[in-house]
Amino acid sequence: MLVNENLVQEIVQEVMAKMQIEDDVQKSHGVFNDMNEAIAAAKKAQAIVRRMSLDQREQIITNIRRKTRENAEVLARMGVNETGMGNVGHKILKHHLVADKTPGTEDLHTTAWSGDRGLTLIEMGPFGVIGAITPCTNPSETVICNSIGMIAAGNTVVFNPHPQAIKTSIYALNLINEASIEAGGPDNVACTVAKPTLDSSNIMMKHPDIPLIAATGGPGVVTAVLSSGKRGIGAGAGNPPALVDETADIRKAAEDIVNGCTFDNNLPCIAEKEIVAVDSIADQLMKYMVEEQGCYLASKEELDKLAETVITPKGLNRKCVGRDAKTLLGMIGVTVPDNIRCIVFEGEKEHPLISEELMMPILGMVRAKDIDDAIEKAVWLEHGNRHSAHIHSKNIDNITKYAKEIDTAILVKNAPSYAALGFGGEGYCTFTIASRTGEGLTSTKSFTKSRRCVMSDSLCIR
Ligand code: NAD
Repeated sequence: MLVNENLVQEIVQEVMAKMQIEDDVQKSHGVFNDMNEAIAAAKKAQAIVRRMSLDQREQIITNIRRKTRENAEVLARMGVNETGMGNVGHKILKHHLVADKTPGTEDLHTTAWSGDRGLTLIEMGPFGVIGAITPCTNPSETVICNSIGMIAAGNTVVFNPHPQAIKTSIYALNLINEASIEAGGPDNVACTVAKPTLDSSNIMMKHPDIPLIAATGGPGVVTAVLSSGKRGIGAGAGNPPALVDETADIRKAAEDIVNGCTFDNNLPCIAEKEIVAVDSIADQLMKYMVEEQGCYLASKEELDKLAETVITPKGLNRKCVGRDAKTLLGMIGVTVPDNIRCIVFEGEKEHPLISEELMMPILGMVRAKDIDDAIEKAVWLEHGNRHSAHIHSKNIDNITKYAKEIDTAILVKNAPSYAALGFGGEGYCTFTIASRTGEGLTSTKSFTKSRRCVMSDSLCIR
């Protein structure tokens, strides 16, 4: 039998790479076998961080930003390899976004009252050690983003990352600790366990040294955290509709919606998951998406096969989440050219490929007779998550009515959804959008507690 040398070479390289990663995990900073040990180490580090000046904390953040930029490609490749989800190029962009636009210590503000009876301040103080639970859809992006905000606020953090993304999360966490050490800060400003489980998560949620838990993930984890008896920041699921009315620039709407929907293969929770289009422009919108935006219009038979493949009796088929359109179509025996980036179709709002949060580039369009009907359908599709919604319209009355009815933490107008993260839009970046508990787009200040500092009858020098 002939030996395929290239194949052998590939297998050897893959095994070596895996061994290298195992080795890296052993040598990483902040990784413990036991959750209690991880929390104890983070507590020790926090005692040092809380005595550091704001300037020293900011130096750690600057280092984290630099290391994230330097390692953007490694992190992006690791994330895709380990989880099997997403797009390397887009993940590189996401890491640069986190590095450049996640707020640091500048997000901390003091409120002051000064008068005859003295001076009173409200300061934003750290909680201590924060417990953070992170998803497999944006693993290192969330670990880095949470760490920047939490450390800038004077906390340290213990992560219970998604087990499917543990190596990528550990790599990110190691960079954060290296950044701290290089800036003269302590090791273990961000910690985790080598094998995160529901048990390690439960230990974290019940631990007396964890006063605040930030959970980024689906409905299960947010409910678990909010039932823990601790203060919780709940960044849960969404199912963002993109509404298009007759006043929109339809060609641009088609481009923006497909760009947003296909970004990182639809993994971001804010990404367009379905369209609601007013009848008079629906055909035109579909035409632009198919003819100009690399969309594949699926037939009824193909949709049935797709629904069966993507949604199993146990829920979403994880092998489909975050895959590109060509791969998804390949799974149902349809071959398409490489330029196909999204699967589109028209259907009723109850169609499972429309009403479910899929996290894959499958975009169903629901037809509405007018703006009121469109708003009603979009609100239904968002399922009360109050997470994200998008609209393409030049009618400010329609936009205002939609904004009030859908009541989401994010509402992007006339742009791809990622404008909400500061990518092609104004404002800062986050990967933890706490719609359920009301913080909205979290930042440093979300990880602080309010402390009133009163000086009686002095220090007013007006
Ligand atoms: P997931 O809910 O399966 O897992 C998220 C995290 O929660 C993981 O670390 C997981 O191990 C943990 N977890 C799950 N159930 C738990 C429980 N009962 N107790 C303790 N821990 C538990 O989600 P995922 O597939 O990793 O990510 C996708 C989901 O997260 C989508 O629903 C998406 O909308 C949502 N998400 C939300 C945001 C946001 O900012 N709001 C950001 C990213 C992802």
